[in-house]
Order: sequence, then structure tokens, then C-alpha cells
Amino acid sequence: MYRALLLFAKKELADRPQIKGKKKIYYISAEFLIGKLLSNNLINLGIYDELKEALAAEGKDLSRIEECEPEPSLGNGGLGRLAACFIDSIATLDLPGDGIGLNYHYGLFKQVFKRNKQTAEKNDWIEDNSWLNKTNTTFKVYFGKTAVTSRLYDIDVVGYHKGVNKLHLFDLEGIDESLVQKGIDFDKNKIKKNLTLFLYPDDSDDAGRILRIYQQYFMVSSGAQLILKEMKEKGYDLHQLHKHAVIQINDTHPTMVIPELIRILTEQEGFSMDEAIKVVSRTCAYTNHTILAEALEKWPMKFLKKAVPQLIPIIEELNRRVMAKYKNPKVWIIDDEKRVHMAHIDIHYGFSVNGVAALHTEILKNTELNDFYKIYPKKFNNKTNGITFRRWLLSCNHDLSDTITSLIGDGFKEDANELQKLLKYKDDPKVLKQIEAIKKQKKLELCAYIKKAEGVELDPESIFDIQIKRMHEYKRQQMNALYIIHKYLEIKKGKKPGRPISFIFGAKAAPAYVIAQDIIHLLLVLQKIVNNDPEVNKYMKIVFVENYNVSYAEKLIPACDISEQISLASQEASGTGNMKFMLNGAVTLGTDDGANVEIHDLVGDDNIFIFGKKSDEVLKLRENYNAEYHADQIYANDAVIKEAVDFIIDPKVLKTGDKASLQRLYNEIVGKDWFMGLLDLRDYIKVKDQAFKAFENRKKWRQMMLVNIAMAGYFSSDRTIADYNRDIWKLK
Ligand SMILES: *Cc1c(COP(=O)(O)O)cnc(C)c1O
Repeated sequence: MYRALLLFAKKELADRPQIKGKKKIYYISAEFLIGKLLSNNLINLGIYDELKEALAAEGKDLSRIEECEPEPSLGNGGLGRLAACFIDSIATLDLPGDGIGLNYHYGLFKQVFKRNKQTAEKNDWIEDNSWLNKTNTTFKVYFGKTAVTSRLYDIDVVGYHKGVNKLHLFDLEGIDESLVQKGIDFDKNKIKKNLTLFLYPDDSDDAGRILRIYQQYFMVSSGAQLILKEMKEKGYDLHQLHKHAVIQINDTHPTMVIPELIRILTEQEGFSMDEAIKVVSRTCAYTNHTILAEALEKWPMKFLKKAVPQLIPIIEELNRRVMAKYKNPKVWIIDDEKRVHMAHIDIHYGFSVNGVAALHTEILKNTELNDFYKIYPKKFNNKTNGITFRRWLLSCNHDLSDTITSLIGDGFKEDANELQKLLKYKDDPKVLKQIEAIKKQKKLELCAYIKKAEGVELDPESIFDIQIKRMHEYKRQQMNALYIIHKYLEIKKGKKPGRPISFIFGAKAAPAYVIAQDIIHLLLVLQKIVNNDPEVNKYMKIVFVENYNVSYAEKLIPACDISEQISLASQEASGTGNMKFMLNGAVTLGTDDGANVEIHDLVGDDNIFIFGKKSDEVLKLRENYNAEYHADQIYANDAVIKEAVDFIIDPKVLKTGDKASLQRLYNEIVGKDWFMGLLDLRDYIKVKDQAFKAFENRKKWRQMMLVNIAMAGYFSSDRTIADYNRDIWKLK
């Protein structure tokens, strides 16, 4: 049944008109975390309801058929998911625009827990019948004198009741899947056979870096050739490239598209260096996604020389021009350790630099990229992230979407701001109860799924407190773990919560990121201890779901009561999980970080729980970290904190867990605590307990749910894309 629906939907897609226009946006990104496509495509094609009814008449359940689709996990997390939301919204706004990326045969690894630890397995998704359409378009890509062939595969991207654009995914011809050994190990040296085998499970660590350069160049060279081919086919003069194409560079991964275009224009199209640099600089725009130093790519010159020697003279020329103009070495492209700063290429040779939330952009301008901001104040702009409401409301929560439609009509599906019309029901007990009933139903459905998938039985009457996102110290799952320990110890001492709490986690950790693995281990061990303790498990349970991905997110988010967004202020550029939860009626418990700040502004103090130090204080502390911040003193001087941290290496925990891992985590927290979990722990405990208490005022809580849903319209990626188009792309 799934295959029949796939083929049917593909035919419908093929019959839709392509979106056309005089100028086109190319969104180039190493990641497109698209997730399953069937449900979304049917919704956007406008045939979901009809099909669902027709199937139901035959005794078939569409949502069960959807389960059969393998998930294409072609991204690590937020950045890749953003790219997926953006291509949906570009088509929905009827803008001509294609995604350009790589056709990884194995997406982000499949996470399997063994002995309370994460293991990684390969995650294939390409079946004989898939959303991919093989094309006849191929390009030669050179690594020095070695040539490989890249072939274009397309996935149709249909806008909501609109025409189609394409997601272009390039694949290596002659790829050899048999190179994969155990788990996700493979021979990293056989470039000609492995280039597009795996998505890098990187999320900010740098294992296997040189293969990453090969992948990046393969993507941008193929993409640049495709763009120029399309421009020529349309009869445009390449000297006018910027009038017909804009290339949005999603983080620094596609940065080499700049020198590659310059190279092609000068070597093959007769451009002078000045002409090529000028037109490319007017065509490319850069989006920054992080201030985490380890994630700002700096490639050693010797790696680049090995992989892409033909780009070296171009990069050196770009650097020479910068050095001639600016005396400050901090803005140069090549540093004194002979490393190439990819973001610096983007900023000097792109026409726009944007951050992804208001706070993040301010931090870029005033701190991280201040030297560049002083040179190019006009290039900097903010584009607060968004999410596509088709997937994160219409598709993942049909009941809520239908109820909203019955109340305010379906205008919100095209204009998300119309959700504010819900505010007039703020004192309508019938509507408030309806919204609560949907939440209850979603919690029941999640309970059934988690029982089956994880073997854990949750109480649907309990509070669902959910933290799902990549495992990273800055996101502070470790601080949440410390709260849970604190609560566990309280219950052991006889202080029992009035209503049980379900603490739900989902997260993958980069395989090379040791401390992140340790935090997963701690949480899995706590899950065993808490859930098996008959004194405690009536009052609280923990479940760390296996293999968190887009499909799992779609089940978890509609069922959430409290959305954990607790990153160290200043460190989460935007977050988009926070927006998905809000839209589905969860209340945020968070720091004033990323887009939480904007959520806070929109819903007001009464409809959110904010705690912790503010970003300016944090940035100040971190300027002189060793002198200013002393985790060991906080630990030693606060009995509550000490008790919770000590529990990590309590004999009871060590009996279930791995001593080396737990001890390492303990040492990290007491000795360094680089993301300052201890700094905010006291306030976190206080405000989290307030949130749990507030849950008991049912009338007020229902109103909070309603206000969050009503104010979520701003976070539609349709708004974000309209902003990109108005300020950067200027397509029409
Ligand atoms: C939305 C999403 C993310 C991003 O979550 P954050 O909380 O913003 O970090 C990561 N992974 C998946 C699968 C998502 O759907």
C-alpha cells in the first residue's frame, strides 16, 4: 500500500507545474533533514483528506501506511531540519528556488542502546522505489588531477497548494556500499568509492576532516556547474548572474562554492579575476548558525592543498585582497597557522550575513564577528528561524489542526498570523477543554507507542516533561539530569510530588564526542534505577527514547506539557524545537536564549517559565572563565547541588553503570563545567518546581496552552522565507 501511494504521489508531483521566475534562489546546504515525505506531500498536494477517507472506506488506516516509509535522515539536527522547512516554504510562497545538497546513502546513524550506552549503526533509506528521481545530468568533479562523476538525483518539493521546486541531491557514480564495515566504520581513504556514502555525524566535532572537505567540494562543484548550466540554458549573460541567481550558503559547509564559481568563470568563461569576484560576491549570501568556536570551520591549508589544489590560488588571491585592505589579522582569511577561515570568505565575498534569531545576530554583531561588523555594518541582518506548519502542525497533529480550523477557519494555513484569532477563546471553557482533550489524546497515543518501542509504561495523567535535541553540553541535558537526581532524592526522603512526572529524553551524540556519550549513559542508568525503584516509580519515570529523529519528534511534540529549552544563555543560536513545541500547546521552561527570547516577548511572562543567567552576564563570565567561574566552589558551598552531583558516582549508580564514564562526567562537572550547568541549577530547580505546581491550576494551564498556540504564527518558516526574500533574495 505504501509503495502504491508513493508512486501515485510521485505521478501527481510530476504533473504539477514547475515554479518559474526571472530570478531564482539556490539554497545550498550539506544537510536537508527532510524526514518522511508521504504525509507532507499528500497534504501539500491537497489530496490527504480525500485519500484518507477513501482508504478508510476500504478498512485501511493511512497513518499506519505512513509508518512503512523509511526516514531520510540527511541531516544532524536543527540546521538540516531548517533547510528542509525552508524548501517547503519557498515553494509555498511560490518562489522559484531549489535546494542543492548531497545524496548520502546512509543518513545520520541509527542509534541503538546496548548496556546503557549509545552504539551507532548504518541508517539506509534508499529503496528500489523512493522519492528520488534519477536524472541524466552528470558533471565531472576534479580533485587535483583525479576526476569523479557526480550524478544528479531530484526530489520534487511541492508547496502547499502550489507548484513544485526541486531538491537537487548529487551522488557519486560508482559508489561502493560494500566499503561499509561494522556499524558505521568504512574505509575513509577510498574517495572515489565512498564520497557520498555517509552523512557526517559531526555536529561540531572534527573526526575524519579531510573526507569532509572532499564531500564539500563535490557538493559545491556540482552545484556551481548546475547553476551555471541553468543560467546558460535560460540564455542569461553570466556577467549578470546576480540578477538571475542568488545562492544562500547554509553555514560554512558550502563556502567553497565562492572560490569554485570564481575559478570556473575565470578559467572557462573568460572572466577577469576582478569581474568574477564582483559578480560572485553579488550572488552569494551567508547564514551563520553558531558562535561555538569549535563549529566555525577552519581548514588547514595542507588539507585543502591535498583535496582541492585548484582552489588554492583563488583562496590566496581572495586573502591577498583582504590583507591589502585591512590591517587587522583577525579578519584575514588565512591565519598565521596556515588555516583557512571559511566564514571569513563568506563575509568578505558575500553580500549578506545573517544570524538566525534576534539575540544571536546581536551577539554576532557585538562580539563574535564584531571586527567584520565594523567593516560591513550593512551586510549584517537577522532572520529569525521558523518551522513549516504543514509538518509541525497539519501533519503531526491532525486533531489540533482540525479543531483550530473549526474555530477560526483555515486561513491560518496560508497566513500563520491568523492563529492569533484563537485569543478570543481565552476565557471560553468549552474551547479550553477541547484543546486539553487533544493533548490528553496525544499523550495516550505516545504512551502506547513508547510502551511498544521502549518497553516503558508511562502514566498518561503524569506531566510530560520533554527534552529532545542533539546531545550537547551547551544544551545542558546534564543539568536536567541533576534536577532529576534531586527530585529522586527528595522522594526517597519522603517529599513526594502531588502528581507524577514523566521525564522524556531523545538525543543522539556525535560518536567522537565523549562527554556527550557520558551524559547519555548517565540518563540511561538513571532510567533503570528510577523506573525499577517501587518507592519512586509511582511518582516519577524516565524514558530516553532510542533513535530520536524527525518521525519520533512528530510523535513526541504533540504530547508534550513542558518543553525543555535550557541551553546556556548565548549559546543556542535559535533553536527550532522550541517553536514546534509552542505550536502544539506545550509551555516552555527555558533560559533567555536563542528564539526563546522572542517566544518570551510574544507570550509574555505569564505564559512561559524563564530562569537562569542572561546572555550578557554569561558572555562576561566567559571572557575570563578561569578567574571568574568556579564550579568547584558552587559545588562545595551548596549542599543541594553537592548531593545531586555526588549521586553521579554514588555506589548505587556505579553498580548499574560504567565507572570510568560516570567518573569522567563527574570530574568534568565539578572541575570545569564549561557550559555552567551548576551556575543555573538552583534557579532551574526553583522555576521547574513552579512550573509543575502551575500545572495543577488547570484553568490557567489551559489558557497558557492556548496563548502559546495563538502566538506561534511568527515562527512559521513562511514568515522567515518572506523576510529572506524581502531583504536578501528580492525575487519578486
Ligand atoms: C527540530 C529538530 C531538531 C532541532 O531541535 P533543537 O531543539 O532546536 O535543537 C533536531 N532534530 C530533529 C529531528 C528535529 O526535528
